[in-house]
Amino acid sequence: MAQKLPKRSQVKQEYTWNLDTLFTNDESCRRVIKEILEESKSFAEDHQGKLHKYSAEDLVKAIRKFEALLARFYRTGSYTNLRTSTNMEDQEALRLSGEFSQTAAIAGANLQFFQDEIAALDAKKLDQAAELAPEYKTFLADIAAFQKHRLDPKVENALAILSPSLELPSSVYRISKAADMRFPDFDYEGKAYPMSYVLYESHYCEVEDTGLRRAAFAAFSKHLKNYHNINATIYNAQVQKEKTYATMRGFDSVFDYLLFRQKVSRDQYDRHLDLTMERLAPIMQRWARLLQKKYKLDDMRYSDLKVVLMPDYNPAISVEEAVSHIDEAMQVMGEEYRDMVMRFKEERWVDFARNEGKSTGGFCTVPPKAQPYILLNWNDSLSELYTLAHELGHAAQGLLCEKHNSSLEADFTWYDVEAPSTFHEMLLSYSLIKKAEAEGDDKKKARVLAAMIENTYYHNFVTHFLEAYYQREVYRLVDRTTTTASIPTPTVPAWSSPQRCIRG
Ligand SMILES: [Zn+2]
Repeated sequence: MAQKLPKRSQVKQEYTWNLDTLFTNDESCRRVIKEILEESKSFAEDHQGKLHKYSAEDLVKAIRKFEALLARFYRTGSYTNLRTSTNMEDQEALRLSGEFSQTAAIAGANLQFFQDEIAALDAKKLDQAAELAPEYKTFLADIAAFQKHRLDPKVENALAILSPSLELPSSVYRISKAADMRFPDFDYEGKAYPMSYVLYESHYCEVEDTGLRRAAFAAFSKHLKNYHNINATIYNAQVQKEKTYATMRGFDSVFDYLLFRQKVSRDQYDRHLDLTMERLAPIMQRWARLLQKKYKLDDMRYSDLKVVLMPDYNPAISVEEAVSHIDEAMQVMGEEYRDMVMRFKEERWVDFARNEGKSTGGFCTVPPKAQPYILLNWNDSLSELYTLAHELGHAAQGLLCEKHNSSLEADFTWYDVEAPSTFHEMLLSYSLIKKAEAEGDDKKKARVLAAMIENTYYHNFVTHFLEAYYQREVYRLVDRTTTTASIPTPTVPAWSSPQRCIRG
């Protein structure tokens, strides 16, 4: 039975993440926000307009300073973002986040010149710098590759200063969803049930009782419909903005612009979507038919797709049990890897709690020189255990990327981003299957196999896949309907986003 969610203040500390490795309190974060602004100014005073005179050695020194400043910037942005994500009604957290984004915009504008000037250097100088400091080879190559898409430095500067306003669609969406949207209770067979995003996504969509599940879906959808105009408006603002950026930067299509930073060709992107739809849709259809048969449903609806195949075998899994399942699943990777992942418990990487105002999850962020942060809404289910394994895959990837690369090159293309997390889910399945086989428990084994479809397969080839397929249709329309009036010719990859959140 779904319960109303507690307040953030009522949550036990052991089920929350430890933000102390970033900042021990808001005041110290606020201090660093001010320092970042000052440092960005003095960086500009020291280097602006001078890069063309620098030797390769001096250039590398300047890049190192830039890297350190950027790392502080990311850590600060992560802290403010993580603070709000666990309680979007927390006015203090929202204020701090606002202070950060204002400062970030100005600091971003102050630093904008750096990549502009690097782009204008001759190729020989860039090669010498890359030879001196191979850890910046890709950073330099990416700047060079983007050169023809750069705008006039003044335009780039204006865009950087305006970035909090230009990022409004996503912040409005996040805040309205977590802080403003209040779902009324819904009735089912004369009883009132509480409703929220988290309750629907982590509970009602899987409920065995078809009547209750469908009533919950109807109530959830009905309430969401109250917001469809505002959501459509902000979504449209986002995609139109992307199209405008694409045009300004001289890309023929919004797809080329969006795929550029992911280093993926349009052909690869289309092939990926088309092939998945063609070859994997029949498997999903078979799964839907199996569920329909199992639940003896006359018609199979969207609201029935997340129901579990073996509801009579769905033991509750506590956080403590989850820790030992993960421990066992990671053993096959060897001690070093396992030890790295298992630090999640001791160092409190994970925010397990469910509370009012918390963002839906899961997601993982790995700020530079800090521990990973994973947001979950733990509901004691096997499915949540898969989400934990998944997010720990992102965490491990983030940690290893940080360890072996400069912070300027530790990001990855989104095309690879789900590989380690999906692999972690497979490790979990493998370990649970081995255990069931050792116990001679066929039912348990079948439950794990079903969980692989319900989680690993569904997550990648239904949920995210359908989002991607839908997104392509939207961008096709945007490409077709927006005029491509010419706007000043192109600069720098816009000041990188301060949060490196990897959505589950
Ligand atoms: Zn993921």
